[in-house]
Amino acid sequence: MGFDKYFAPTCVREHSYRYDSFDAKYKMLKYTRPIECQKCPLANDSLCQKVYKKEITDDLRRYTAPARGSVKWDEKIYRTKFH
Ligand SMILES: [Zn+2]
Repeated sequence: MGFDKYFAPTCVREHSYRYDSFDAKYKMLKYTRPIECQKCPLANDSLCQKVYKKEITDDLRRYTAPARGSVKWDEKIYRTKFH
């Protein structure tokens, strides 16, 4: 599994996973498989996971909650900058 410029996981064909939610208790970011992958020939392969979880504490400089690059993250940055 690879990672895109926002450190979101990508599938074998380099589709970026979508940030879904953050589990505060376990400090886990949850990503779900992008819609593009439904047509992927590897969709039913074990290489292609439906959900990908990442512990935020693995790398605090890379991982934020909400996840970098997600809509929620954009909103947070926007609020910080302009309000
Ligand atoms: Zn894919």
